[in-house]
Amino acid sequence: MRSRYTAFVTGNVPYLNRTAPAHPIRHLSSMRRRWLGLEILSSEMRQTEGWVAFRARYIEDNVLTVHTEKSYFQCLGGNWQYVSGEPDFHQWSIARNETCPCGSGKKFKRCCAT
Ligand SMILES: [Zn+2]
Repeated sequence: MRSRYTAFVTGNVPYLNRTAPAHPIRHLSSMRRRWLGLEILSSEMRQTEGWVAFRARYIEDNVLTVHTEKSYFQCLGGNWQYVSGEPDFHQWSIARNETCPCGSGKKFKRCCAT
C-alpha cells in the first residue's frame, strides 16, 4: 500500500500496473496533485489476501481531497496485487486566506494555491 502511494506520488505507472493488473492505467492525470500524506488506518494480512484501510490527502486545483478506502489485496505468485476497493472522497475548497492544509503554517495563497 505504501509503495503504491509512493508510485502515485512519483508517477510510476509501470509499478502501479504491475501491482494492479486488473486496473491498468495509461497515464496519471494526477501529476498536478500536491500529496499531503498517507495514513494506514488498519490492516489485516493472511497468507494470500489482505485488507488495508487508508486515508490519503491531496490538494489539486485549490481543492483539498481526503480519500478514504479499504482496499483488498491478493498475493499471487509471491506478489501482492491490488484487487478492489471502495473509495470515499470528501472535498473542500480552500479559501486563499486560510492556513494551508499542507502544514506549512503559511496562508494558502502564499503556499500551495494555484
Ligand atoms: Zn501549502
